[in-house]
Amino acid sequence: MVVMAFQWAKTGCAALLMAAVAGAAACANDLTHVRFGAHDDFSRVVIEADRPIEFDAFVLAEPTPRLVVSLPGAAWRVADLANGQGRGHGLFEEFRFDPSGHNPRVIFNLEGPARIVQEMTLDPAGGGYRMVVDIAPAPREEFVELAGFPERSQTLTQLLAEVADVTPDLGLCRRPRIVVDPGHGGRDPGALQRHGGGHEADVNLAAALELRALLNATGRFDVVLTRETDVFIELEDRVRIARAAQADMFISLHADAAGSHTARGAAVYVLSSQGVDRSRTRAQREGDWFLPESEHRPAEVNEILFDISMGDKLNRSRQFASELLAEVRTVSALLRDHPEHRGFLVLLDAQFPAVLFEMGFMSNPQDARNLNDANHRRRLMASIVAALEDHFPDCGARTNYAANSTAAPAR
Ligand SMILES: [Zn+2]
Repeated sequence: MVVMAFQWAKTGCAALLMAAVAGAAACANDLTHVRFGAHDDFSRVVIEADRPIEFDAFVLAEPTPRLVVSLPGAAWRVADLANGQGRGHGLFEEFRFDPSGHNPRVIFNLEGPARIVQEMTLDPAGGGYRMVVDIAPAPREEFVELAGFPERSQTLTQLLAEVADVTPDLGLCRRPRIVVDPGHGGRDPGALQRHGGGHEADVNLAAALELRALLNATGRFDVVLTRETDVFIELEDRVRIARAAQADMFISLHADAAGSHTARGAAVYVLSSQGVDRSRTRAQREGDWFLPESEHRPAEVNEILFDISMGDKLNRSRQFASELLAEVRTVSALLRDHPEHRGFLVLLDAQFPAVLFEMGFMSNPQDARNLNDANHRRRLMASIVAALEDHFPDCGARTNYAANSTAAPAR
């Protein structure tokens, strides 16, 4: 019945023990094995540690079925699994461990809706202490009902639904809402024009208006601009607008400048890992600025929500960035043919996927000519539309419940 096992090397704790002069109490629990068993009516995961751990197990319904096993104080020492990821068995698909925050945890993607039928801790029998969780398939409605922390009045499913980018998948098609952010404006002109035409802020705005017109013409998207005139808007306000609009994709438009006028071509940026750290620190310090109405929730829940939301955001941002570059390269020179990672503030929010598109260099004569040419801008913006059409499923005339949500403040 037990078909797969993974071994964690027991190095960290032993090394600490040897180094400690007095007391090994600070030494964390090392997780030593994870193994799975598939039975006719349930699947089991066994996590082994060298000390008993009071763990918390719960299922999440959204955005995809998952089992989370929270293991306070546990240390994960991965020997033969790169990045702490592995494959499950039975109802368990792949898993990964997440050492971030105060509650290390293992997150298992599940084959489908499931419920926990048994959880227990067993003393060693030739191995380590065993934490056992059995799950069985559950009807979707029941799963959604059960999903969440035990003994909490508000389920995690509801909490997750509040986080904009994990809208429950109800089988309905939600019309994608695209927030277009023309960089700079007002007292901040951005990169200055050196080869005729307008400054960067003007170019960004002209491009954004063009992009909105093209997106509206498809009839497939709702479009929100962070500014539609030459006004100054704080970066954080741009993020707030996108959040209020429940953005499905945030696209910030910029034009670059370099000391040398030979540098040219378009580039696409997504959030870097340093940016993720900055976002998490900021969320903790400022009372979870990135998670609405979070102050009444336990920090543990906020951390999990943040990590899940951020993980999904990164995946979707990177995927869209690649799709965007594939389209842009057909109409423009590229500075780089792969997405670059940066910690730009407008990319930090965990709630929506975001890219920053540098359309070319104001400091390069050829790029500047192109950026000031309406025809070129239209081709460039059409490449964004093509990438968005590829990225989002076509709802056609079907249900659009986006209309119920609050519109962004007019700017
Ligand atoms: Zn700029």
